[in-house]
Amino acid sequence: MAFKFFKDGDDLYDEATELLKRGEYGKARDIFQKSIDKDGGTDDVAAVMVALIDLKDRQTEGSAYKRVSDALSKTDATEIVFGLTTISCSELSTECGLMKRKMELLSTSDKKSKSDGLQKLAVEFQSAIGDRNLIVPMLFRNDSTMTGTTEFLNLMAISYETLSEDIVWTDTQKAAEYEQIAAGYRQQNGQPPDANMERIRCFSTTCRCWMCGRVATGEGIHFFSAPSEVTTSLDNGEDSPVKSRPEGGAHIYICRACYTAVSKRSDEISRRYYNEAIAELRRAEVRLQAEIAALQSQISMIRMSR
Ligand SMILES: [Zn+2]
Repeated sequence: MAFKFFKDGDDLYDEATELLKRGEYGKARDIFQKSIDKDGGTDDVAAVMVALIDLKDRQTEGSAYKRVSDALSKTDATEIVFGLTTISCSELSTECGLMKRKMELLSTSDKKSKSDGLQKLAVEFQSAIGDRNLIVPMLFRNDSTMTGTTEFLNLMAISYETLSEDIVWTDTQKAAEYEQIAAGYRQQNGQPPDANMERIRCFSTTCRCWMCGRVATGEGIHFFSAPSEVTTSLDNGEDSPVKSRPEGGAHIYICRACYTAVSKRSDEISRRYYNEAIAELRRAEVRLQAEIAALQSQISMIRMSR
């Protein structure tokens, strides 16, 4: 029997596959890469493996999904065995293509196009994957709760939350309606819609500004509750249904205009004090440096005169 001194690409591939079965992703990646360097071809499943292992810790990056799709497009294989799991190449390719678009859309700053894009993508998750489990969460987190359908519900919720964020500055009532729709999708997806309900409460709360008397709707958006000292004498006489302070506690309602005017002025004053303090510190530093230099030269003169 011939004894091989050097491992060829196939031996390395087998070795890496064994490592994957034991969950040793880092070591497996190095050896898959070596097998590519030895005899990597255009039809290279090892390249898919490397891209897939790299995706493990980069599941929020669109480019990591793209690398898996690119590697898959260069192989004729219909299935790959990743550790103990056999994966359909076409299903993995579909999932990575959709996930890449999801990550890109989530970081889109234009809220209207983000929301539209997410709804289109949600429908594609539903039609292309449906009730089938997503492969990547199963592979790396053993998470069998994510399917094309749960992703549809999740993306629809995010889409309506994005619409709400977009419109809340001009129409809090509409924003609350969008949050209500998002809450419905979250509930269908088995997620508690607490954050949506809290936003609906805030968007529906109306107050009268303690300072200027304007009426505003949308807590945290168009007005704030700010800590203050409200004496009994000041608190007397409010019988309007629109309150200028919340029940109990030492807080008052301030509209955004008054709030930002006060906080910007306060920032200016703090900045002036800060700049003065820093300038004084610099002057002290220069003075001390000069004294240190004088002392150093005196020490050298004493040393030389010895
Ligand atoms: Zn005001």
